[in-house]
Amino acid sequence: MNLKKFYINGEWVDPIEPNSIEVINPATEKSLGDVSVGSSEDVDKAVKAACEAFKSYSNTKVSERLELLTNIRNIYKKRFDDISSAIQSEMGAPKNLARGSQATVGLSHLKTAIRVLENHTFEYNHGSYVVRHEAIGVCGLITPWNWPINQVVSKLAPCLASGCVAILKPSEIAPISAMVIAEIFHEAGVPKGVFNLINGLGPVVGEAMSCHTGIDMMSFTGSTRGGIAVAKASANTVKRVCQELGGKSPNIILDDDNFNKSITDGVKSCMSNTGQSCNAPTRMLVPADRYSEAIEIANEANNKIITGDPNSETTDVGPLVSKAQYDKVQKLIQSGINSGANLVTGGLGKPEGLEIGYYVKPTIFSEVTNDMEIAREEIFGPVLTLMSYKNFDEAIEIANDTEYGLAAYVTGSDKDELMRYARQLKAGQIHLN
Ligand code: NAD
Repeated sequence: MNLKKFYINGEWVDPIEPNSIEVINPATEKSLGDVSVGSSEDVDKAVKAACEAFKSYSNTKVSERLELLTNIRNIYKKRFDDISSAIQSEMGAPKNLARGSQATVGLSHLKTAIRVLENHTFEYNHGSYVVRHEAIGVCGLITPWNWPINQVVSKLAPCLASGCVAILKPSEIAPISAMVIAEIFHEAGVPKGVFNLINGLGPVVGEAMSCHTGIDMMSFTGSTRGGIAVAKASANTVKRVCQELGGKSPNIILDDDNFNKSITDGVKSCMSNTGQSCNAPTRMLVPADRYSEAIEIANEANNKIITGDPNSETTDVGPLVSKAQYDKVQKLIQSGINSGANLVTGGLGKPEGLEIGYYVKPTIFSEVTNDMEIAREEIFGPVLTLMSYKNFDEAIEIANDTEYGLAAYVTGSDKDELMRYARQLKAGQIHLN
């Protein structure tokens, strides 16, 4: 694979202006190579190819698109190891996570797109009207680094299934797995111009895509800051904008027989992927009269988490993705200490023996109030804040008191109780256990 090339109009091409940045393996701090960063001229070139391809691709039969998606899925299976090892080296996911979840989820998205396409009715009568579902057109797809293939395939699979064409700008921090996807699409026979990939920086390539008159829809996953920028830049051309942004998700633990397991699972889920998941349950709310017990259980669960080399089969938590992310997480741990929260475990600095790599200590704070920075900011690292609630109303009030609204969790054994809480939570996804 040549990291300097872009995939435009069915071939690997040089950027119009040569410019590149290093991709760093966060576990070794060593370079994985220089990747080209594009310009608005590269975006123009890809949009031209995509617009041309849309004319015929949007008119393909469902059976043709099903065959294409099935080919992609089969080649994806063949290239599975390449995808998981790219994810592991570019963003530091431990081997088991990279294989078991990060790479596997791409296959699930393809499977779902195939199932939906097999059963979808594109045209039907509704009274005296004909309702027809048409492909939107050229879709600009911008993705983050934390679940790189999840976001890339969850956008591309429905895009291709519906007859749309795509220009993908993956995260500049983790672009390699997306380039493997481009190789897979090429081998699967995706018609030229239907899928295009340009690497580059958000404020340059991402901005050029958002402003482009030839792009009909932007689908963005990333930070709230980035999402706002894309929506604003898209506004002048009145294109559709779809955003999936950050989170600071509450996890209400119910007082019941499952107490121990609920807390243990909540800790693991928060720390998984080194806390770098948009829907990580980072604010744990426990009943006030069992607060000390909860702290003990959480501490014990955290002490069992193994932080270390992503190559090791026993590693639960790898490094953070970058030096910038490491510095941000350290700053926020310091903020927790300064604000008077109690450091139960973890804290500042690197875990012993892990001086090279952007490793941090999985950290738990108790005595946290919801106005503290560590309870309000998306830390995007393995940091859990433990808070207490006295009753149903207080739990709901704390849970919903956030600028985010991506996810919320309720954990316990009583189905009716779980639903009673779930109905009052304001979030896009509610996870029950
Ligand atoms: P980010 O916003 O910095 O970058 C995401 C993507 O947006 C990258 O490709 C980047 O180059 C691009 N970008 C940045 N600024 C841009 C701009 N001005 N115009 C256009 N594109 C721009 O986010 P990140 O650090 O890569 O990812 C972490 C964030 O993503 C977290 O906030 C996390 O919660 C969120 N996220 C959300 C979901 C979800 O499904 N809701 C999933 C994963 C990650």
